[in-house]
Amino acid sequence: MIDKAAKILKQAEFVAVLTGAGISKDSGIPTFRGKDGLWRNFSPEELATPQAFQKNPKLVWEWYNWRRSIIYRAKPNAAHISLVKLEEIKKGNLWIITQNVDGLHIKAGNKNVIELHGNIWSERCIACGFKRYNECVYEYENLPPKCPECGNLLRPDVVWFGEPVRHLEESYQIVREADVLLYIGTSAVVYPAASLIELSIASGKYVIEINYEKTHLSDYVSVSLIGRAAEILPHLVQKL
Ligand code: NAD
Ligand code: ZN
Repeated sequence: MIDKAAKILKQAEFVAVLTGAGISKDSGIPTFRGKDGLWRNFSPEELATPQAFQKNPKLVWEWYNWRRSIIYRAKPNAAHISLVKLEEIKKGNLWIITQNVDGLHIKAGNKNVIELHGNIWSERCIACGFKRYNECVYEYENLPPKCPECGNLLRPDVVWFGEPVRHLEESYQIVREADVLLYIGTSAVVYPAASLIELSIASGKYVIEINYEKTHLSDYVSVSLIGRAAEILPHLVQKL
């Protein structure tokens, strides 16, 4: 199966890659749906919403600050690094569309990266539009952080449930133009990212899946590689 995936990637002129939380698992960052994804018994659906922030901004920031503390220490793993090699092999004819907010693709060195859900280090004011990139973990007493311009609340500049994802048109365009879609470490249930996979399948493109377990789309893809991304991707890229 890995040879078949390598052949598809070798022949492709333009590659689209969609990544989810699973690719960063081996960097020590928990996925939402894994058993370590819960924080103090809250599910992400209870915290990553505009309503939750309105009700209790401190609680939502505490959760983000906890996630920041994990991501602060995390380094790109072999899977991220393999995608940098793949971008080089494809001479830049490759785009990564990620659902992750950890910024690890950019840290690894990929140049063509779309962050559908934003970046965990980005913050914006709920009132005046002030925005900053602030790679820090806050002291508990400084939560929730305030806008230096107007004193209102800052919020994580990420996409919450019920909010529109970013760069969606551009992402559709990339998937439409690509010869192959490689999707990695995503349960393929969060929309509209999942619809990018469905679009590729429906239009008869090559689709390669790398995931720790089967997904509901495994039976419909060209190649399904089941296992850890940090193990499979280096093998795959080595064959190119
Ligand atoms: P998910 O948690 O729904 O699914 C993760 C998938 O990765 C699962 O199917 C799991 O089997 C697989 N997986 C786990 N370990 C793996 C490994 N080592 N190698 C390969 N696959 C592995 O994640 P999702 O579908 O990406 O969606 C959840 C949402 O949560 C996203 O919108 C994202 O913004 C957010 N999120 C981001 C991060 C991050 O930035 N690192 C972490 C958690 C959640
Ligand atoms: Zn402000």
